Amino acid sequence: MSRIKSWRNNFEILNKIRNSSPSKMHNFINKILSRRPENIHIAQNIDGLHRSQKFKDQIVEIHGSVHTSSCLSCNQQYETLKFYEENILKQQSLNCDSCKDGLVKVDTISFGQALSQISLKKAQEASENCDFFIAVGTSLKVSPANQFPNIALQNNAKLIILNKEETSFDGRALLVINEDLEEIHEQIN
Ligand SMILES: [Zn+2]
Repeated sequence: MSRIKSWRNNFEILNKIRNSSPSKMHNFINKILSRRPENIHIAQNIDGLHRSQKFKDQIVEIHGSVHTSSCLSCNQQYETLKFYEENILKQQSLNCDSCKDGLVKVDTISFGQALSQISLKKAQEASENCDFFIAVGTSLKVSPANQFPNIALQNNAKLIILNKEETSFDGRALLVINEDLEEIHEQIN
């Protein structure tokens, strides 16, 4: 896929996200984050819907995010939307403003690409140190995300699973609720 085409795809995703609001479950997760600064959200989604500047340091986006873009040479980071409008639309250029040569790419990680080691390390540490690991809306089938509940269990954390379908971890969880997430949210409230 050409880079311009890839940018266009990402921009479409971003536009869709801008026009949708976070779900009740996203708000619920933010509520948990607000309780203690030690609470960490490991996100598999790239939509950043959970993203609130307030909890920036408590969210680990292991598959990246469409909201930011970075230069492949010097790592200068940009707001995706701003870069798209000012560099791509106006100047038809994917080049970095800072180092001039490097190409700028959206910070999502495609299938088969290496994940950010920093994010993985942060997610691993959070899994090792938590008392409760709550898996929300995930099939726990995708690696490496599905390693984290394993790490948590090995370190004596309690596992709670909130997901519409059953997962292979259900037998090891303290609590499993197989229900639509919005429905679970209603019940919790
Ligand atoms: Zn650069």
